[in-house]
This record gives sequence, C-alpha cells and structure tokens, in this order.
Amino acid sequence: MTKLLYALVVVSWTSANVVAPAAAETVLVNDGKANAEIVIADNAPRSVRFAAEELQTYVEKISGARLRIVNSPSGAGPTGTGPIPVYVGESESTRRVGVTAEGLGRDTFRMVSGADWLALVGSDEEFVPIEPWARSHNQWAAEKESQWRKLAGHPWLNPVGSRIYKDYNKQLDIWSYDHRGSLNAVYAFLRELGVRWYMPGELGEIVPPSRTIALPKIDRTVTPAYEVRSISRPMISSNEIDDVLWYLRIGANDQYGIMHHGQRHLTEHPEQRAAHPEYYAMMANGRRDNESQTANACLSSEGFFNETVAFARLMFDHYQIPIISVMPHDGFNHCQCERCRDQITLDRGPSGQSSDYVWDFVVRVANELAKTHPDKKVFCGAYSSYRLPPLKIDKLPDNVLVQITNGRPIRELDDEIHRDAAELRAQWLAKSNNPLSVTLNYTPFTNRGAYRPQYWPHVAARGIKASHKDVWREDVWLSSGKGGLHYPGMAHVNPYFISRFWWDPDQDVDALLEEYYRLFYGPAAEPLGAFIEFCEQQYANLGSDAEVTKKALDLFDQAQAAAPPDTVYRRRIALVDEFLPTLRNRATQIDVKRPEGLPEYRVIDMAKDKWRDARGTLKMDGKLDEAFWTAYHYPRSLRDVATSQKPKHPARFMARWWNDSLYFGIRCEFDKSEPPIVGSQQDRDPAIWQGEHLELLIETDKHSYYQVVVNPAGALIDLDRAVKLPGAYDWSSQAEVAAHIGEDFWSVELRLPVTTSDEDPLHQMIGSRPFQAKQESLESGKGTSLPWYFNLYRKRSGTKDVETTAFSPLGPDAKSFHEPLKFARIYVQ
Ligand SMILES: [Zn+2]
Repeated sequence: MTKLLYALVVVSWTSANVVAPAAAETVLVNDGKANAEIVIADNAPRSVRFAAEELQTYVEKISGARLRIVNSPSGAGPTGTGPIPVYVGESESTRRVGVTAEGLGRDTFRMVSGADWLALVGSDEEFVPIEPWARSHNQWAAEKESQWRKLAGHPWLNPVGSRIYKDYNKQLDIWSYDHRGSLNAVYAFLRELGVRWYMPGELGEIVPPSRTIALPKIDRTVTPAYEVRSISRPMISSNEIDDVLWYLRIGANDQYGIMHHGQRHLTEHPEQRAAHPEYYAMMANGRRDNESQTANACLSSEGFFNETVAFARLMFDHYQIPIISVMPHDGFNHCQCERCRDQITLDRGPSGQSSDYVWDFVVRVANELAKTHPDKKVFCGAYSSYRLPPLKIDKLPDNVLVQITNGRPIRELDDEIHRDAAELRAQWLAKSNNPLSVTLNYTPFTNRGAYRPQYWPHVAARGIKASHKDVWREDVWLSSGKGGLHYPGMAHVNPYFISRFWWDPDQDVDALLEEYYRLFYGPAAEPLGAFIEFCEQQYANLGSDAEVTKKALDLFDQAQAAAPPDTVYRRRIALVDEFLPTLRNRATQIDVKRPEGLPEYRVIDMAKDKWRDARGTLKMDGKLDEAFWTAYHYPRSLRDVATSQKPKHPARFMARWWNDSLYFGIRCEFDKSEPPIVGSQQDRDPAIWQGEHLELLIETDKHSYYQVVVNPAGALIDLDRAVKLPGAYDWSSQAEVAAHIGEDFWSVELRLPVTTSDEDPLHQMIGSRPFQAKQESLESGKGTSLPWYFNLYRKRSGTKDVETTAFSPLGPDAKSFHEPLKFARIYVQ
C-alpha cells in the first residue's frame, strides 16, 4: 500500500464507507503525472465550472499533476484507453454511466466510481435574480428604487431588491442561493484525500502531499443535515477572496426569501409613517408611535393587515420568493389600543405575554395567503415577548414556518439550559407540522467590548446532535463589522466545527478536535487544545475570575512557546494572540485589589431612541444649556480631595456616550470675589497648571491610563500616562474642547473620541465602549464586557487656598493625583 492510500484510510469518515482503491493499478495521478481528466458538460452551471477548477487546483497542490478540464472524455470513454474521466456535475457522460442528479435535494450529491471513472455529481440549480435589484448599496436609491415604487404603489421597503447583492460574489459569479451539490462533492472528495480548510487563506489549509492518487472505490450519497446553513461572517460578497472561498469550502449557503423582522418593510418608510399613523402601535400615553426607528405595528389594524398581505403577494409573484417573514420589528412593543391591549397575557411572563397576540396575526396572514399562494410559506420568529408558543392556537397552518431565536444557546453544556432549549423546540414542534429554523446569536468579536475567547465546538456538537432532526435551517450570527472574518485565528473555529456538524451531525467532536489540534498546531497541539477547551468550559468566568483568566493565558503562552518560530504553527498561534490584549489587560485589572466603596458613574447612551431629539442639539460652546445635557439632568458633584467634605466652590459633571465619543460637561462655580486664575490660553502650555484647571484621568478596558487637563479658557494638555515622560506627550487625545466663563461659574464641554483599533496608539483613547460588567440575559447570548475607571479633579491653583476637589477623593495622605487604584468605575447604559 502506498503512503497515500494509507493516508486515505486514516482520514476517511468514521462511517462504513471507507475509501479503498478499486485496484492497485488504477490511479488518477501516477507519481506526479496526470492519469485522469476532469469532464464537465458543455453548458455546465457556473458552480460546476468552479468545482472543476477547485478540483484541478487541489489535485495539483497535492500531487503536482494538473488534470485537464474537458467537455467530453478524450479517451475511448469508460473501459477504453486514455485518461480516467473524473466527471464533475451531471452531463451526457454521467448519464451514460447511470449517474444523474435526479431526485437529489439542494446541495445533496453522489460520489460514485466505476472500474475506470469517478463521478462527483449533485444538484446544481442556478439562482436567477429578478429586476429591479441593486448591484451595490448606492445603486438602489440612485436607479432601482423608483422602478420598485411603481411596482409596489406603496411606500414599502424592498429587502430583496435592495440587498441581495450581499449574497452574490461578482468575482466568482456565485450566489449563496445557488445549489452547489457538485461543488460540495468535489470538496468531500478532497477531504477524503486529507485536505482541510480550517481557516481562510493558505495559512488556514492542510494539504497532505502525495505523488500518487488512487481512483477510490466508492458509491455514496451525501445529504447535508440542514438544507440551509447560514453564517453571518464571512459574507459571500466579501472583497477578501480567501474569505469567500472558505465560505464555499465549508459548505455554507443561504435561503432566498425574507427571513428577518418582515414587518419593518411596511413600517419604516417615512411616507408610510406620515400617511398611516393608525398602522402603528399605540403607546400608554395614547399616542401612536410612528417615529421610533423600530416602531412596531398595531396588529389589529385592518389597513396594516391588508398591506402585509398585499406586500407578501407582490414579493411572491414578482420576486418569486418562497418564504416571507411577517415577524414584528425589533424592540417589540405591545400595542395599547383598545383592540390590542387586552390581548396581552401578562401571566405568561416576559417570554410569552404577547405570544397569542403576535401569532394570531401570523396565522390570519397565513390563512389569507394560502387562498392565493398555497405553496408559499409565512415565516415568524419565536422571539422576545412572543417566544413561547401561543395557547389559543392548537396547530399552526401548514404554510407557517417557525424560527426560534437562540434555539441552540451557547450555554448548551449546562444540562438545565440544554433541557430547556429542547423543551422549547418540542413545544413548538407540537404546534406545527413543519421542521424549525433556529438562529444562534454567538457573541460577536467586535461589538460591545467582547474580549473573551469564544470557542464552542462541544456546545455546537451537543446542540446539533439534539436538534438536527427537527431543524431545516440554522442561521449563525458570529461577528459583525466588515464582510470578512474578524480575528480569523480564533474566529474560524466555531464556523468550521458547526459546518462540519451541519454536514454530518453524527461525528465525534473530540476526534475532529484531536485532528484539528494535531494538523493545525503541530508541536503546540496539546497546550493549544487545552487552551481552547479550557476557554469553552470556563467562558463564564474568563475575565472575572483572576485564577481562571490567568490559567487560560498560561495555557496559551505554553502553546506559543511550544511552536518553533518561523513555522506555520507559530504564525497560526500569533493570529490567536491578536485577540488577546484586552484579556491580558483584564487579567492585570482584576488582579488589582481596588478598595471597597469607590464611586461609580453611569454614562447616558445617547444612541437610545428616547434621546433621539436631544442628541442632535449639542452645540460645542461650553454652556451646557442644550437638551443634549439637560434632557437627563443628573450631575454628580466633586468633593474635597482630602476630607471628602462639601467644598466651598462646588463643581458638578455629566457624561454622555454618542457616536464613539465620550462627552463630559463640567460646571465649576466660584465666589465672585475669587474668580479663577487662567494660567494660559494655549494648548500644551505647562502654565495651564499654574491656574485653575480640571484633570481627567481615565483608564479604558485596553489602556491604563490617559490624562486630559482643561482650564477655563479651554486650553488643553493631554498625556498618555502609560508612557514615561517626555514620551507621554507624544499622544494626542484629539479632544474637542469648548469653555465658557459666566458671572459666578465656568463650564466646559469636552468630546473625547474613542477608537477600538490599536493600530495608531498616538491618537485618541483606545478602548471598547464600556459596559457594566454583568451577566446579560441568556436569550441575548451576549456576555460581560469591561467597565472603565476614571477620576476627575478640579484644582484652583493660583488662588489663596488652592481648593482641590475630586469625584473619587483620595484621603488625607495622598501626595499626587495619580492614584489609579482610587479611580471610580464608569460605564455606559
Ligand atoms: Zn392596536
């Protein structure tokens, strides 16, 4: 047995279908020379042409032999002489040997070999987009939307025409909606040869070299366990071609249709809001909310019902979508109008109080649509206050599809949560004759200050094994931001393992992991595997428990030390390290014993809907008299820095978070007989310290700490106190400052821009938006993130008694302001 054949046996699936050579002499590649050719139909679908190229590329990478791609076998055909045909996709040739795609479902494929041929054939239906549709974001408004308005005759949004370009890759000319059976057959065959695509790009792949490739003896039909296998990142439309290829190689796809919060398309347009306030949910004050960004509908409104039905019919007829969501908009509010109010069932709690109300609407729409479109489906999520099944509806009509949000939670390893998730699925299945769809809201890597390593191989394995028989579609939300995969060194693990289970839920997760650690991390396999599994088990304690955090980082550092420099293993581990700075900083932060009873400050998040009117009012004039500051008026006072007593000259401050900036508004009162001394009018002039000034010392989750000094003239000094003087001055906060001096007070407005990127450490504060550290709800699936710490001082330098005040006083013994252990906690809410 050659070395390659041995490799084939060890890497093949654990199923009974172990690949074995048909005969010792039948080979596709012989000692680096091609003994086969790839045969595709003349008019092969685009995914088949691409599949042939992929096969050609990887056979060459493995063996050095380049197989030709032809439209008909160049030899005498089967049993004749000449190169062995490897048929990719159905063609005249495959029909002759009795292999077709007939009866195969989406992405299902067959791998069949004869004495001297191999066929890799699946369903390869091509998606055809329907006009009007935009090729880019801008093209919709500029060219296409007017055509849609004519068609619709209503101010409806069109999520299909305006957005499907996101499910298309121009460079490869492939839609995520295309059926790709034959391409997946090629990938399955290459996996049999030992190829692994763990991470996007060449660094992410394993290609075991072999000069000879045998013709396998095989007859297998593979059906993915899920018809639709959707991941949010990477996107197929990404400009990073490596990300797109990886999306295809792990076998992801997407569903053509309208799947999320379908009601928004009828409620969001400004003209709709103006023309039909009666379509919108009534608030407790009796007003219809037609203004909030996510304004919800009044589900008793006949007009809204009729438009929902008309919109669905148009989307079915014109765009040929098979499924339409009639799910309420996000941020659900139960309408308080006379007809809706009493439909609430408060006794069912926050997950069920609107279930009967919302699902009654879904069923009414579905029944109406069944009259004209019996083959189309109506879709709604079990989510927020309508997450539990309705009680008054015994059975949903057969054209209703249910999606459970977080139907397979990340805390699946907890037995109770595992049982609860299964129980909720069972309750919904009892109401429906259709399988379910589930979404999984896995913590994003870039938002909300996420800093904990996120590895869920066992979670995914356990959840998928328990649910795949009842679920037709999984939709995994992994990471937001650009179209590619963020922190790929870490972020590839979850989609890789989830996608393997999507295709074959019966695999042994530990065997898959063992192979991954060994092939991908080589000599560092053991410590890196230990790191990944420790992080998965200890996720809840990472970053909050000092010992757990330290142990995780120790395991990682051992892995790094085990991989020799200049190896692929070390480069892969270095990519994981890119995610860890915040966790490392956190490990030192939680090690620090901060004294009890320090003050806290909650920053108002101006992005919230209720501040919509206030947030636009800010005028940087130092006066603090606009609604930006006064709409929520809860200033906090400074106290004597040594005694904590009320000072003679009171000072108060407020803070706001808006558009990636932290705003401070500070008002300092003075006795008219003792006006402030102004040390300098110029930024960065040390004389600023000789007069009255404010000092803001601030430690972010990523950096400890920054110093910003402002005086009544609005002159500024900013330093990075993590760096020794004079280097500390190299940093610029890029703050915007405005000061105002009144009769008996002076005040400042200060805007500090914040960036999450650490690429440019000399400008702006680096940090992720601070959140209150607490375990957020299970349903949201979002974890904890880090607060920041700060202190604010006012020093009346230049006056007789130099009164000095602070938000977090330091006590009588303090010699300097620079006491980070006494900083107050600050977070945004
Ligand atoms: Zn209502």
